[in-house]
Amino acid sequence: MTDEILAKYEMTVGVECHVQLATDTKLFSGADNDARDKSPNSVVSPIDYGLPGMLPVLNRRAVDLAIKAGKALNSSIAHISRFDRKHYFYPDLPKGYQTTQLHQPIIGSGVVHVPMEDGRVVDVRIHHAHLEEDAGKLTHFGDYSLVDLNRAGTPLIEIVSEPDIHSAIEAKSYATELYRLMTYAEVTFGDLYHGNMRFDVNVSAALKGATTLGTRAEVKNLNSFRSVERAAEYEFRRQVEILEKGEKVVQETRGWDDNKQKTSSQRSKENAQDYRYMPDADIPPIVLSDDEISAIQADMPRLPGEWRQILSQLGLDYLPIETLLDAENEFRGKINILQMIEDVIADPKKAKFIANWNVNTLIPILRSDTNFKIGQTDYLALESAIYELSDANKLSSTNAKILFRELADLDELPNVETYATEKGYIQVSDEGAITAIVDEVLADPISAKAVEDLKNGNDKVIGFLVGQIMKKSGGKANPALAQKLIRERIK
Ligand code: MN
Repeated sequence: MTDEILAKYEMTVGVECHVQLATDTKLFSGADNDARDKSPNSVVSPIDYGLPGMLPVLNRRAVDLAIKAGKALNSSIAHISRFDRKHYFYPDLPKGYQTTQLHQPIIGSGVVHVPMEDGRVVDVRIHHAHLEEDAGKLTHFGDYSLVDLNRAGTPLIEIVSEPDIHSAIEAKSYATELYRLMTYAEVTFGDLYHGNMRFDVNVSAALKGATTLGTRAEVKNLNSFRSVERAAEYEFRRQVEILEKGEKVVQETRGWDDNKQKTSSQRSKENAQDYRYMPDADIPPIVLSDDEISAIQADMPRLPGEWRQILSQLGLDYLPIETLLDAENEFRGKINILQMIEDVIADPKKAKFIANWNVNTLIPILRSDTNFKIGQTDYLALESAIYELSDANKLSSTNAKILFRELADLDELPNVETYATEKGYIQVSDEGAITAIVDEVLADPISAKAVEDLKNGNDKVIGFLVGQIMKKSGGKANPALAQKLIRERIK
């Protein structure tokens, strides 16, 4: 498939995302909502597997989290929402129906602003999002399958986007942004490995300028941003190939094989399944007042969009900002990367220093220095001390990094300036002291040729002279000051 052929077509993608809510218990029962590492069928209540006569009771906490999710999605919250039964026959669903919301979902239409590296912002509209329970899990063996109902009744919200995405990288960026929104809003724990967020990607291809969308295929249950991107790209190419042959794309559900990096057909949707939806009469409607909704939404941490605004006002660009937003999630509960910046926000120059320090020094150490141990160090106090010393020209950027690394995994912080002085990291910015060394170096016969060259306009040799001064001062002279003093003497 050549790029020329692909360029004739437009990709259109819509995403459905299931987010596991961070509740203690399940959506309609008191069973534990944390099924990780539990033995099969040990955290499931008769309500979750639908023993006749059981009466579900809605988990209020799940409703509160849905209200928070609504704010993160820039959506309205319904004053009245209801549950419906979606019937289908499958061994992971002994109830015979999934309790979900079809006609009156709790979260209405909204929009997610997705920032792209090239500076564009892609607005992906949200059609709606609804509350529902998860089903169990089947594991297939040779000629039999085993059922684990630990996930049955797990509270989810399903976020349904409009088909506003037109490239694989946009699909990946949208998935990433949803993850950020849901974790920053504390709606989910965001454990992707354990399926806390799963993406279904609807992909279609059509000739550019066509007035109708192509037939779509849905790739189900992707659990990483990268697989969202790869699956969208693979599916687009597969469909273009079919269309170029003059054949028709079949509407179907497909699975993603991460090892083969391929999608494959699971079931055709040519005969749309009849789910026999009906209102769930066991569960009263969710009725919410404006006051209740705003009280919950007022009590939320900052969302990524607010952070982007704050950080760009400090003068940070896209990549450092996204690095900080990612790291906040990565080290949540260990180091509060963003809070450190917020704590000194009244001093923008310092806040920018702390932000850049986190991006360029702290985060790379946290990610790749295997000897580094996150301890009880007050990182903000350490970075602040380094800021003061650097600002006063007492610390070179090289020594600042060395100093930070030496002190950052101590549990108790010594006086930073005293420590730096004892270790010889403080640079001399005293003009009198450096002037003496400069004069000495310029008078030294070894410098004669460089001095001559500099007088004749060969500016490059100044590096040699500064090097001599650094050597004589035992590396402690402030090189910028040394250079200034040389220039004052040689014109
Ligand atoms: Mn669903």
